[in-house]
Amino acid sequence: MGGLFAARVLADHFDEVLVIDRDHQPTMAQPRGGVPQGSHFHVLLPGGMEAMTGWFPGFDDDLIEAGSIPMMGGRDFYAYTNEGKSYSLQSYQPEPMDFGIMYVQTRPLLELCVRRRVQSLPNVRFQYRTIVDEAIFVDGRVRGLTVRDGDQVASDLVIDASGRNSCTVRWLPAIGYEAAPETYVNCDVHYASVLLQPHNWDAFDGVVFFTMPSGTGEHGARIGTLVKLDGGRWLAGLGGRYGDAPPTDWEGFRAFGKTLPYAIWDELVDTAEPLGAIAPYRLPRAVRRHYERLDRFPEGLLPIGDASCFFNPTHGQGMSSAAGQCRGLQDVLDRRAADDLGLDGLAAEFFPVAADWVRGPWIMAAVSDFTNPNCTGDFPMEDLADLEQLGALAASLDTNPAAAGLVIGISTLQLPLSAVRQALPA
Ligand SMILES: Cc1cc2nc3c(=O)[nH]c(=O)nc-3n(C[C@H](O)[C@H](O)[C@H](O)COP(=O)(O)OP(=O)(O)OC[C@H]3O[C@@H](n4cnc5c(N)ncnc54)[C@H](O)[C@@H]3O)c2cc1C
Repeated sequence: MGGLFAARVLADHFDEVLVIDRDHQPTMAQPRGGVPQGSHFHVLLPGGMEAMTGWFPGFDDDLIEAGSIPMMGGRDFYAYTNEGKSYSLQSYQPEPMDFGIMYVQTRPLLELCVRRRVQSLPNVRFQYRTIVDEAIFVDGRVRGLTVRDGDQVASDLVIDASGRNSCTVRWLPAIGYEAAPETYVNCDVHYASVLLQPHNWDAFDGVVFFTMPSGTGEHGARIGTLVKLDGGRWLAGLGGRYGDAPPTDWEGFRAFGKTLPYAIWDELVDTAEPLGAIAPYRLPRAVRRHYERLDRFPEGLLPIGDASCFFNPTHGQGMSSAAGQCRGLQDVLDRRAADDLGLDGLAAEFFPVAADWVRGPWIMAAVSDFTNPNCTGDFPMEDLADLEQLGALAASLDTNPAAAGLVIGISTLQLPLSAVRQALPA
């Protein structure tokens, strides 16, 4: 997803953009090997959607035509919490609110719609079934790639959007550069998801609900999700933490679901049939790679998306953060083009901008993750001042309604965290 966004941004600035992927060309909205997380529900936050409609005018129509379900954020997306049914996942909101239209679809369907738009750009080519091996490094800059069959691809700029097992991590020591310092949050999440054929698709109101962790007892960290999808299907998901993995056999999956603190998930799943295998996923830790802290970095290479930061997926931020980083790249390239600057110094200018788009979601997720007593890692102390400012603004909305746009914009990844400083007195 990050690679597709980056291709769209680069297409405005380069004669030719080549997207290389190890997988075959997806022609249908099906999970694929290179994106194993694709079987699990992917929330598309407003920040990601805003970026996509900016790059691809009319993208919302594409989604609806392809089968996405439009819904009102704050009304059709809700949670069962200890306090009761809540229309916000962050705090208890007993009454529906209007957070604007959101779109619900499988991750492969969203990716297919983005891919079609990028494929239609005249200066973008795709090369599938091609594994990238090494960076070609000459005189302090990356000048292209070698791929698995030994071929070389020359390039002025390489974007590494290879996901969390990022190529850049492997390449830097091999070409004599230090690895980026990393911070971790040991969130250890276990997911299991399955498509269902329900007898009555409309058996629950709204489009998506979560059962939130009760926080107490043996199963206090378990969560469940139920999502309405195109084709009259539901997607059912279960989650556990710290070694508590939902089983991948139907009986075990149902038994795990019965331990959720709200019976509604299991009562509804009981009225449906599984449509295929149950897909598992484990993410032991969220990792942020601080490229902005490096003194030296090779010209001609930029890691983006999960390659630079991957989050605890429970918070639904990864795709929108990748989109934010690519918005940052777009701004930097536009500025440099206006000043007739070349590519030298691009990484040094881009990394702090990308880091600003990553900081907000990272610390919001980390602060939430550290409320679990099993969570270890690096608490983001250095960024807390901005988070506290955001919290103070959120608390002041009754008397300062003008701040609402800022609070919602940062929380939904439409704005980078530094935007909070606009609200500080001069
Ligand atoms: C279980 C789970 C649930 C998630 N839920 C959400 C959610 O609700 N909302 C959200 O916004 N995000 C979610 N995410 C995060 C989201 O999937 C990623 O943040 C997002 O896909 C951006 O990743 P990316 O483009 O950087 O990498 P990826 O999407 O992982 O893509 C990496 C690409 O690189 C290719 N590749 C890798 N290595 C090579 C190589 N050597 N040569 C050639 N090609 C290569 C792969 O085939 C793939 O196409 C979730 C993640 C997980 C694990």
